[in-house]
Amino acid sequence: MRGYGGRMLFVDAGSGRSRVEPVSEPMARSLIGGNGFAARLLLDHVPPGIDAYDAANAVVFAVGPVTDTSVPGNSRACVASKSPLTGLFFDSTFGGRFPATMKRTGFDAIVITGRASEPVSVRVTEEGAELRPARDLWGKTTREVVEAIQGAEGAATDAIAIGPAGERLVRFASMATYWKNREGVAGRGGIGAVLGSKNVKAISVAGARKTEIADPAGLKALLDERRESLTTGTKALSTYGTPFLVKPINTLGALGAYNLRQETFAEALAISGEEMHARYHASDTTCLKCPVACGKQYEIRDGELLGIKAKMPEYETIFAFGSMLGNAHAGSLARANDLCDLLGLDTITMGVTLAFAAEALERGWLTAAEVGVPFGWGDWRGMLRLVEMTAAREGFGDRLAEGAWRLAESVHPEATKSVYAVKRLELPAHSARALKGMSIGYATATRGGSHHDTRPTPQYAQGLDRRSPDGKPEFAARSQHFTALGDSLVLCRFTAERGFGLYVEEPYARMVRAVTGWDVSVEELERVGERVINLERLFNVREGVGRQADVLPWRVMHEPIPDGPSAGMLCPPEELSAMLDRYYAVRGWDGQGVPTPERLAALGL
Ligand code: SF4
Repeated sequence: MRGYGGRMLFVDAGSGRSRVEPVSEPMARSLIGGNGFAARLLLDHVPPGIDAYDAANAVVFAVGPVTDTSVPGNSRACVASKSPLTGLFFDSTFGGRFPATMKRTGFDAIVITGRASEPVSVRVTEEGAELRPARDLWGKTTREVVEAIQGAEGAATDAIAIGPAGERLVRFASMATYWKNREGVAGRGGIGAVLGSKNVKAISVAGARKTEIADPAGLKALLDERRESLTTGTKALSTYGTPFLVKPINTLGALGAYNLRQETFAEALAISGEEMHARYHASDTTCLKCPVACGKQYEIRDGELLGIKAKMPEYETIFAFGSMLGNAHAGSLARANDLCDLLGLDTITMGVTLAFAAEALERGWLTAAEVGVPFGWGDWRGMLRLVEMTAAREGFGDRLAEGAWRLAESVHPEATKSVYAVKRLELPAHSARALKGMSIGYATATRGGSHHDTRPTPQYAQGLDRRSPDGKPEFAARSQHFTALGDSLVLCRFTAERGFGLYVEEPYARMVRAVTGWDVSVEELERVGERVINLERLFNVREGVGRQADVLPWRVMHEPIPDGPSAGMLCPPEELSAMLDRYYAVRGWDGQGVPTPERLAALGL
């Protein structure tokens, strides 16, 4: 098959044994790769009802047919598991160089199960897998581990590692890879903690297999045609990175602040992309072979944090540690982001959990003595200390390490009403109240509070009425097909959306035809996206998800945005219920949100 290594590698971290299975053409064509492969593998290999830290849980790394080709944004991989935060199917993607190198091993998927008795790293080459002792790496930061492995195994090796947070089973532990100062972080859902539970500190990859393309001239023609829209569409990203979003979204009245009590932040300009770029920008960084270079290195040139060199915080991180905490200290955002990457923590969950803690302190649900360090709205010093304490599960950090929902359950019977989370995953920076497409999108997302199931991007554009629920269930379903397909190819979302389209459309069909040689249509790819969503839903239904779980945060359903350009907006339960009815009907699911045998059969499942 063109576009594929054609093999999957299964590794048992307990016994050290591994085996190779072929990727069949029907599997490849019906699921494409990445997210699709991971959904099928987890549904087939993870027993229902087990704890995420059970040795039988699996962590799947998967690439797609586009990985390591000439498509901009191709060096991206999917990592998936049963999440310790949500207890459900979870996938996260990351960039850098690791994904392209993994493809060169000739394995489209690496499946890790079992639990090693001692810390190990998993080395994968074209020959297969080998477990290496990693006792000396335990306790080290993600960057230290990646550098140590590359030092030992050579510069052609790439590695992705968990930090101390993953070792201590922080429920939102991440993993990170580094290449030429470009971080690739699989942030969300706590998959780093699943690796920690397996005593797996890192995975390294090295290989030299080339990805064969069926129609190189056809692919080149497509890329030539799309170059201009990609360049124009990514201008703001190239210049400022994702922080360019702070100003326009605040202007829309959709930037969550003070644990979502507001959706405008008076000091937003101080933490905007433009302001931070002017003060701190040092250099641009990019993933392998990507012309966009949306990554920025910052150097703090003023104040108490003078001299700190760190990666630019992404827009979502600015929201979580900035506006949600009433914090306009720009340097602290870069520092918090850096700490999270090094210690292995998801920035969105960490910041939103701290925002809940700030409100809980104010309401008297928590005492200053319980928290143990000075902390409250805008207290960035306390914020940084609590990030470190969370990674170490030290003091109050041990409770923060459980995420906002579980923390709330432990402080007061009413407290979960103040948590900004869906299915126990804290929401990112695209408003569930001000964008009706996100209201139904978050409620039905496999992962819960994720902006990579249903996309916010089309809802900020002209021509889509963000205030009306009309047509939003159809939009959410279509957008979910797009993200599932994109994460199966596996493509960077930024280059995909701006270069090839916001939905499953002809450029994607041309791309798949050119890479694989299959005569696929847009309709066939749309069904791939739907198939992947249904596999994920089947996994979640097995874990008890149904209509009762497809809800929004209490505040989103009951408290209107108090002021600003989106004042008055919310998504009351009856509006959500009507959108769910329509969404399930569009999907061919029953009234409880369970896929029907007829629809599954139509999708070949
Ligand atoms: S747009 Fe940014 S995240 Fe995407 S591949 Fe390029 S550098 Fe990486």
